[in-house]
Amino acid sequence: MNKLTHQFVEHLPDQLEEGALYISIKFATVAHLCCCGCGNEVITPLSPTDWKLTYDGKSISLDPSIGSWSLDCRSHYWIKHDKVKWAGSWSKQEIEECHVREAEQKAVYYEEEQPTVEQTETKISVTPERERPELLGRIKHALRSWFS
Ligand SMILES: [Zn+2]
Repeated sequence: MNKLTHQFVEHLPDQLEEGALYISIKFATVAHLCCCGCGNEVITPLSPTDWKLTYDGKSISLDPSIGSWSLDCRSHYWIKHDKVKWAGSWSKQEIEECHVREAEQKAVYYEEEQPTVEQTETKISVTPERERPELLGRIKHALRSWFS
C-alpha cells in the first residue's frame, strides 16, 4: 500500500479503512491503519510538539515521519502528498520479513521487556520520541547554566 486517500471528518470512524487517512481538524487528530497492512490503528495528534499537517489543496503531508515503534511491525514511513514513503532501509521485503519474525520478536520483547540494542540502533534511525527529551534536556541545561 503506497497511496492513501485522505478524508476530512469531524469524528474518527470506529472502524478505519485500509488506505484511508482520516483528518479531524476539530480534534486536531489524524488517524490511519498502519501502512504495512498489519491492521493496527495509527493515531497521530496534531500539535506544535507532535505532528504537523500540510494540505496543499490536493494532498496531505505529515511531518515528522511515522514510526510505529509500539507495534509489532515497527513500521517507519513518511506520508507525503498522500503517498507513503518508506523510511531508510525499510523496504517492502524487509517489512514482509518482519512479519515472519513477528512472533519471535514478540517473545524476545516480553522476555527482556526492552527492544534489543540491535533493534533500536539499526532499525530506528529517526525517532522524534527519543530525540525530543534529549533536546529538551539540552535546552533546560542551557537555560540553567545561563541563569545560574
Ligand atoms: Zn504495521
